Amino acid sequence: MTPLALPPDWNRLDQFQETITHDEFVSLLDLVYAPESEAPWITVEPEQAVIQKNATDRFLLRFAPDIHSRKPLTRYWSINLVNPTADKPLCGLRIALDPGHLGGAWAKMEERWFQIGALPPITEGDMTLRVARLLARRLRVLGAKVDLVRSKPGPVTSLRPNRLQSQAQASLQNRGVTQPLPTYSGPTDPNRERAIPWEAERLFYRVAEIRERARIVNDKLKPDLTICLHFNAEPWDDPLHPTLGTKNHLHLLVNGAYSKMELGYDDVRFTMLIKLLNRAYDEELPISESVAQSLAEATGLPPYSYYSSPNAKQVGKTGYVWARNLLANRLYECPVIYIESYVMNSKEVFARVQAGAYDGVRDFGGVMRKNIYVEYADAVATGLVRHFRVQSYTMER
Ligand SMILES: [Zn+2]
Repeated sequence: MTPLALPPDWNRLDQFQETITHDEFVSLLDLVYAPESEAPWITVEPEQAVIQKNATDRFLLRFAPDIHSRKPLTRYWSINLVNPTADKPLCGLRIALDPGHLGGAWAKMEERWFQIGALPPITEGDMTLRVARLLARRLRVLGAKVDLVRSKPGPVTSLRPNRLQSQAQASLQNRGVTQPLPTYSGPTDPNRERAIPWEAERLFYRVAEIRERARIVNDKLKPDLTICLHFNAEPWDDPLHPTLGTKNHLHLLVNGAYSKMELGYDDVRFTMLIKLLNRAYDEELPISESVAQSLAEATGLPPYSYYSSPNAKQVGKTGYVWARNLLANRLYECPVIYIESYVMNSKEVFARVQAGAYDGVRDFGGVMRKNIYVEYADAVATGLVRHFRVQSYTMER
């Protein structure tokens, strides 16, 4: 099991008995979820999949004999618009907005903070919250019911690093660290990844926090769609003397491309199967493609590429969408649109963030641009509207 995971309730997979055919199951595994390898721990037979629950126990998933005899899916989300109109094209859609990271006083600890000279620092977690607030307003006007998974700076989990010391020790041990360090000196300490307090902090802001957000999404909000908002960053050439670069790009992530090693964890395998079987991908891909298109038009950004990483696979036709197994897009059971737009430590984006919120447009390198938060929120809203207009048009026919 991965750190802080609860033991999976494998009986939950019973709701998916006979809801998927053999061919559909194999194609989702091969093309989306486990494209790297023969999915270990899962043996596909003509009439069932034999799934290892752990080293000794197995779960049998029976396939539907053909697509006409598939049993209906039970899931908390459904992408069904309720009487959409021209000015309320998202009517009936429940959307959760998840502003990435914590921001505020936590930005330094979560290593989502940087400063150039004496200029105001850049904190991703505060920028994503600004975009979420603007986007929420736009989507409500368009008829959607919108909730923010995090609505202020700071964590939603009540756990704190000081309560994660023993888990941090165990996690370091799992990573093969034999002599963990009792302290570290800061974000530039080259040995920090071997220190217990650093690992406890990482478990807090990266794992406990996302697990709590997943609980809010799946148990409380139960949205039809979750949108994770992020800004990207490129590694510094020299972290001790950060200088801005020129690389700037955009990509979106859908859940998939699990590596053999990741599927070896019982909890990861279980949540992967929930996502595969509830058919989140059928929604994640076309909505991501539509939002990628509108963001590309608005920002002019080229697609980011993971090149030949074993943990990422390009999907769709736009070139902007990749499948990757992230904790958030795995644990949130509904379709997740995960956006990585703009490189914060590029010269252009840095200047736009320093410019802050302004009305209208301003000249950046010869291009007239809305303020970066408005540009981001407007483009996401446009991509959603375009996608769902086509949906309701085809539904009417
Ligand atoms: Zn981020």
